[in-house]
Amino acid sequence: MPPVFRFAPSPNGLLHLGHAYSALLNFDSARAAGGRLLLRIEDIDTARCKPEFEVALLEDLAWLGIAWETPIRRQSEHLALYRQALQRLQALGLIYPSFESRGEIARLVAGREAEAPWPRDPDGAPLYPGMAKQLAADERARLIELGTPYALRLDIAAALEKVGDLSWTELGEGPLGETGEVTADPQAWGDAILARKETPTSYHLSVVIDDALQGVTDVVRGRDLFWSTSLHRLLQELLGLPRPVYRHHGLLRDPAGRKLSKSTAATGLRELRAQGVTPTEVRAMVGLPYLA
Ligand code: GLU
Repeated sequence: MPPVFRFAPSPNGLLHLGHAYSALLNFDSARAAGGRLLLRIEDIDTARCKPEFEVALLEDLAWLGIAWETPIRRQSEHLALYRQALQRLQALGLIYPSFESRGEIARLVAGREAEAPWPRDPDGAPLYPGMAKQLAADERARLIELGTPYALRLDIAAALEKVGDLSWTELGEGPLGETGEVTADPQAWGDAILARKETPTSYHLSVVIDDALQGVTDVVRGRDLFWSTSLHRLLQELLGLPRPVYRHHGLLRDPAGRKLSKSTAATGLRELRAQGVTPTEVRAMVGLPYLA
């Protein structure tokens, strides 16, 4: 079976050189391995994702010379599927609703931090400090009945009881040079949010389901997602999904050393193209060889 790669952008802005690097690396790797390249549009965040960004990114990727298989998968078209996976986790007793707003959580954390530093997840967000796991079933039902907004969280302690030690095969590198068989540390995410009242999924949940469903064997993506893989491995194990191999690549920086962002025009593919930069020059700019 040929290996299956995927590029999975979120259409919440225009692509920059960092995206070009990731997309080209996937394309080149698929080609070198005689594999397939899929494109997945990660558009579950309906407030930030816009169809015009999707149109623009498809055009930019084609301009770069990247070819992908069709049909493209759009996550927003598969919400029922993510809901089903969530229900499986719920049936295992691993999901509970929490009702605090972001502001309330920030205040709770500030209160705890007055005493001692409060642990943060790998993205820098404080671990969930609330007590919603302890709420009685009738109190939960009452709050839901009242229409209170809620987040559905993974009970990490209960989840870890169901699985053994987890690891993944890293063909790239983590922030501290981690490579080879890397031990997963899902606990570092605390009781992570897997869905919200209005959205039956989250990045972490949908990414593992789609990678499995699309038969992805090789995940090539930015190093900023390295530690997310811990949670992905846990979800794969709980849901009985196969595990791909991972290659996390370095992130391109601007001359001042900052991570590229979708709002910096200087490195936007559209701007570069308007200035007359060619796709071959983009390859050179991101340090990839020209492929004939
Ligand atoms: N959609 C994610 C992003 O644009 C990438 C997800 C992934 O490659 O796993 O950052």
